[in-house]
Parts: sequence; structure tokens; C-alpha cells
Amino acid sequence: MDNNEEKQLESLGAFEISDRLIALAKEKATQPFFNAGRGNPNWVNARARLAFNRLVEFGLTYEQSDDRELVMVPTTNMTDAFLDFLTASKTDQFLLQSLLYVEKTFAVSKEAILQEWLQGALGDNYPVPSRVLPISGQIISTYLNQVLIKDPTLTNDTLVFPTEGGTAAIVYIFQTLKENFLLQKGDKIAMNTPIFTPYLQIPKLEEYELVEIDVAATEHNNWQFDPKELDKLLDPTIKAFFIVNPSNPGAKAFSKAALDKLQQILIQRPDLMILTDDVYGPFVEDFQSVYAIAPHNTLLVYSYSKLFGATGWRLGVIAAHKRNVFDDLLQTLSSEQKHALHKRYEIVTTTPESLAFLDRIGADSRSVGLYHTSGLSTPQQIMEVLFSLTHLLHLTHDPYVADARQLIATRYHDLMHALQLAEDEDPLNTKYYTLIDVYRLAETKYGTAFATYLKEAFEPIDFLLRLAQTEGVILMDGVGFGTKAGEVRVSQANLATERYEKVGKRILSVLDDYYAQYKKNH
Ligand SMILES: *Cc1c(COP(=O)(O)O)cnc(C)c1O
Repeated sequence: MDNNEEKQLESLGAFEISDRLIALAKEKATQPFFNAGRGNPNWVNARARLAFNRLVEFGLTYEQSDDRELVMVPTTNMTDAFLDFLTASKTDQFLLQSLLYVEKTFAVSKEAILQEWLQGALGDNYPVPSRVLPISGQIISTYLNQVLIKDPTLTNDTLVFPTEGGTAAIVYIFQTLKENFLLQKGDKIAMNTPIFTPYLQIPKLEEYELVEIDVAATEHNNWQFDPKELDKLLDPTIKAFFIVNPSNPGAKAFSKAALDKLQQILIQRPDLMILTDDVYGPFVEDFQSVYAIAPHNTLLVYSYSKLFGATGWRLGVIAAHKRNVFDDLLQTLSSEQKHALHKRYEIVTTTPESLAFLDRIGADSRSVGLYHTSGLSTPQQIMEVLFSLTHLLHLTHDPYVADARQLIATRYHDLMHALQLAEDEDPLNTKYYTLIDVYRLAETKYGTAFATYLKEAFEPIDFLLRLAQTEGVILMDGVGFGTKAGEVRVSQANLATERYEKVGKRILSVLDDYYAQYKKNH
């Protein structure tokens, strides 16, 4: 590829570039190729999945023991039969403990819980109520509080809307903000960059034309931003602040200083809308979400994809406080705007003015007209509940979470060791991703003149292309996430652990090749 072709490739999104790299690696590489680009975990949570299967099995066999194909779904008097059905296996004991925990914590009967779980797992009814199944909503809210929010006083007032992954949550929120005139063409929104690519790409779409204000973190500062950057939010023309926390690809959680600073700023900006995507929160031990310090301003997005290895299930959730700035801002719209919204929502409620913002998201997710069949599929809701319960039963020490953290920490260590780089042991570092500055690495190994040569003679993407072609290693280009050129993202999530040392060595080997070429020419 010549420089011009490489320039064209650089104009694609990071995930699209990654697809090209995979094709190249498959074509050219002599050795098995390693895709260390994607954040898709290569582990799964087994307990909750086995428990889900047991619920399905019980629901389909308890009323009739022969294996008929047409079966009536049990609706009453299930508790005794279910308790008889359970064995001493770890999975069944998890179900039993879960049942007892939910009964005690939320003061609901075992029968009511089983009804929701069995009907939900079998998927024989529309999601009713459509936003979230009643007991499931309380369990998911409690889970979010335990892993992200850590303020029990907020649990009862935190409402949830499960969605088809964090992806759908993000799309739905953008859509409802726009439809309800809370974000309009030309509005300014701030983001903590570098950031997960869709947050940069969606506002660029013609229908939004939003202006981004970077609240930037840099490698120089170990991907932690200076809390002073948040002063930018004092500008009253900035309508919203979109956050990925802990960040992707920077992999850092907001510091206590940053949370305090944001809280201060909100005293002067009580109208600021915040969206926080806390998908990586559980990978930081003492994590606290922005939602905890600004519940009235914040929509929280979470996904079960990463921690539980469940990207194929599509399990996400939006959480909002019962009293929030989104509902308040709806009251301040012009009478024409209110009139338009009255028309928009009058087919689903007789009092459209009081339809909460979170419920508007639900209605909009199905183009309003199909609100009555909206909501996440019930088996997906029950899967979210079971994943949540694996944590809720282990509040003081969750061995699954500890194992997941340990796994990525080991991979991070092996990678950094092979690259001969110092590890960032800051407890706010999730270690889920590593950003490597290729030019700085070149400078450290072979000096400034060589790093300058690399910058000037080659397109930044050239390094990723060579790495894919000659070494069969795929990494993600950081530029799509808003980093400067030459930053590449390694994911510690999706390769077998023994491969991370090799990834590090192969990165250095490509640098060696460039250096050999450089020495020949100089
Ligand atoms: C992976 C990721 C998501 C996507 O979540 P899904 O539930 O798989 O759609 C959302 N936000 C961030 C920051 C992510 O890294």
C-alpha cells in the first residue's frame, strides 16, 4: 500500500480499519494471527448461564414428566415443586440462595419470584410492564448500586430500563434527547476524550451536528485528565457531558478529585445533562460512578457484555433517578415544542406532559406506535437478573470478579514486560486496555532521530499494517477514539493469556524492522 492508499484507510472508523487489518493478516501472515484489537472478552460467567438453563428445564418439565412438545407453562403453586427439583449442585444451590436473598431483600414471596423467573426465562409473554419486569427491576437496580454507585440510599429511587446491550442504550438516549428537543442541531456537548468511537461518530452524523468539547486525558498524565479541564463545563452553552468511566481506550476511572470538581461545577450548572457509560466500572475495586455524586443530572449506561463475557446476549441497561434534570428540562420547552411532544406521545398516554423521560426512551425505542410491545426480551431480562445475583450473593468478596480482574492484570503484566515498559499500577487503572504510543516507544528504544523518521516517512497506519502483515497481530488504531496519531490500543480481554508476551515481542520486532530500514538509508 502506498501513502495515499494508507491515507484513505485512515479515514475509516477504528473498527472498520480493524476489519481490513484482519483480512490482511489472514492473507499474508505465515503464523496464526492474534487479534488483540477487540474488547470482546474470551471468558464467560458459567454459573448464571447454567442457572438459566435449570430454570428453563424446570419450567418445561414440572407439570408433565413425559417429553411432549406442546407444554402448558406453569403459573401457580410452583414453590414446593421447585424446591424439590433443586439438587445439591453448585448451580442449584446458587438458585436456592438467590431465591432466599430476593425474598428477604425485597419482601416478595418465592412464588412471585418464581413466576417472574420461569415465565421470563421461557419467554411466553410480552415484557409487562414494558420498561422492566417488577422484581427484576429491583434486582438490577441493587446490582448497579453495589458495583457502580455505592450509595444504598439511591437504590429505591433509581429506575432501570434494560436494553439490547449498551449499544442500544446509547442509540436510544441520543434519539430521545433529539426527539424531545433537549439536544438540537448545533448544540455543544462535551466528552472525556479519548473515548469509545460511537460517541465521537454519532454526533458527527448530519442529524445531530453537535459540537464536541474535549475534556482531554493524555498519556503524559497516564490517561487521567486534569480536573481543571472540567472548568470547560462552566460554559452554559454546553448542554451535555458524555462520559465513559472508566475510560475506553484510556482505561482510567475518574479520580476522587475529578468527582469532587464535577460536583462543584454542577452547583453552577444544575441544568447540565450527563450521560455516563460505566461498562468497565466493576474492573476497578473502589469505583464510584458520576451518577453517585450527580444522580439528578445523570443517565447511567451499563452493559453485562464485558464482565460476564456476554456480548452475544446483548444485555445492557439505562438507569435514571426518579427526579432528574431531563424531566425538569422538558418543563422548560417552548409551548410549540410541548405541543409537538403532546402529539407525539398522545397515542400512548392520556397525559403526555407527565410521561417521564425514561419512559419516553422506551416509547421512542419502538417508534412510539409499538410502545405496547417495547421492552427487552424477558429471557434477556432474566439473564441480567442472574448475572446480577452472582454478585449480590458475594458482596464482601466476589470470587468471579476477582478472577476476571486477575486475568486481565496478568495479561497486562505480560504485555508490558515484553515491551519493557513500566506498568501503571494506579488502582484506577482497569488494565482492560493498553494504549501504546508507537513514536514514544521508537524514541525510547532507538532515539529521537529514528522516531522523527518514522513519523515523517510513513503514515501512522503503516505500523498497524506491517504488524498485521508480517507478524499477524491486529491492534486498534487510537485515532478513531480521539488519540493523537501513533497511539494504538491493545485489548487484554480477548486473547489466550500466553499470547500477550508474544504480542509485545512482535510489536518490538516490527520496530526493529523499521530501524534496520532506517539504518540502511542513513
Ligand atoms: C463495549 C462497550 C459498549 C458496548 O456494550 P454492548 O453491551 O456490548 O453493546 C458500550 N460502551 C463502551 C464504553 C464499551 O466499551
